[in-house]
Amino acid sequence: MYYLYKMIKPDFKALQSLLSEPKKIAIIPHRNPDGDAIGSTLALQEYLSQLGHESQVVSPNQAPDFLHWMPGFHQIINFEKQNDLAQEIIANAQLIFTLDFNHLNRVGDVMQASLEAAEGSFVMIDHHEAPDSYALHTYSDTSICSTCQMVFHFIEALEDLDKITEQMATCLYTGIMTDTGSFKYASTTATTHQVAAALIHLGAKNAEIHQAIYDNNSPSRLHLLGCALQNMEVIPEYKTAIIHLSQKELDHYGYKKGDTEGLVNYGLSIAGVVFSTIFIENTEEQIIKISFRSQGDFSVNEFARAHFNGGGHHNAAGGKSDLSLSDTLSHFKEILPTYKNKLNQ
Ligand code: 5GP
Ligand code: MN
Repeated sequence: MYYLYKMIKPDFKALQSLLSEPKKIAIIPHRNPDGDAIGSTLALQEYLSQLGHESQVVSPNQAPDFLHWMPGFHQIINFEKQNDLAQEIIANAQLIFTLDFNHLNRVGDVMQASLEAAEGSFVMIDHHEAPDSYALHTYSDTSICSTCQMVFHFIEALEDLDKITEQMATCLYTGIMTDTGSFKYASTTATTHQVAAALIHLGAKNAEIHQAIYDNNSPSRLHLLGCALQNMEVIPEYKTAIIHLSQKELDHYGYKKGDTEGLVNYGLSIAGVVFSTIFIENTEEQIIKISFRSQGDFSVNEFARAHFNGGGHHNAAGGKSDLSLSDTLSHFKEILPTYKNKLNQ
C-alpha cells in the first residue's frame, strides 16, 4: 500500500439511540453535488424517513442534469433557489448529516454561515482526506471508494439492511459507480463489489443506471470534448497532461453543468501520463476550477492543498485559482518542475 488510510468510526450504538426518537433532520451534500453526493443523501433521506424522522435533503446548489432521473431527486431543496425554506430547515434541524465532504467551506460561503449558526448536532459521513472536527459523530474512512458505500455500511452497522428499498439501492449503486469510474479506480475493493452485488439483489438495475448516467451525451457535449482534447498539452518530462477550457469555448459549445464531468480522465489514459489536470474558466464565479487526477504514488490531494486551495483524495482532487486562465496555467507550469522527482518515481 502506497499511503496510509485513515479511519474514524463513530459510536454506532450512540447513533442508534440518537435515531430511536423521531427528529427533524437536514441532510447536506457538497456544492456542485456529484453522483456520490446526491446518491448518498437521497438514500439516507429515505432510510431516515422509514425510521420515522422528518428528514430533508438541502443541496447548496443545483445538481447537473444527468442526475435528475435519480429516485427522490425532485424533493431535494435547493439552497440557492429556495433559500427561505432551506434556511428554515437548517435552523430547525435537530440533526444535520453532512455527506461526501468534510469541511463546512465545501457548501459555499452563504450556506456555510447558516450551518455554522445552526443549533443541531452534526453527523459526518465522508471518505475524503483530512476531516475537520465540526461533527458530534464522525464516520470518516479514506479507504472507502464512495460515501454511498459508507451509507451502506452505516445502515449495516445499525442492523437495518432490510430497510434498503429498490430506490435506495439505485441511489447507492449510482454513487458507487460514479465515484469508482464504473468500478475501475484503485479505490474499488472486493467489499465494493460485494456491496454492489447486494444492491443489485435489492433492486438496483446496473445496466439501466449505467445508461442513465453515461449514455446521455448531446452532440454539443461531444464537440466540447473534441475542443478539450484539441487543447490538451502533454509534458513528457513531468508525465503530465494539461487540458483547459475558456469561458468563450464553453459558451461556443453551449456548455451545461455536468458537461465537463470526467474530461480530466482522458489525460490519464495516455501511456506514461501519471498526472492529469483540467483548468476550466468560470467567469461568473471569477475562478478557474481545476481538477487533478493521478495514477499511483503522486498525491494530488497534497498538490491541490499546497497550491490551489483545494483537496480531495490521493488520486482525485480539485482546487481553484483566482488568477486568469493563462496566468493560472503559467503558475501551474512554474510549480511543476519542483515535482519532477515525485512524478518520475
Ligand atoms: P472533481 O475534480 O471531480 O471536481 O473532484 C475530485 C475530488 O476532489 C472530489 O472528491 C471532490 O470532492 C474533491 N474536490 C474538488 N474540488 C475541491 C475543492 O475545491 N476543495 C476540496 N477540499 N476538495 C475538492
Ligand atoms: Mn464521493
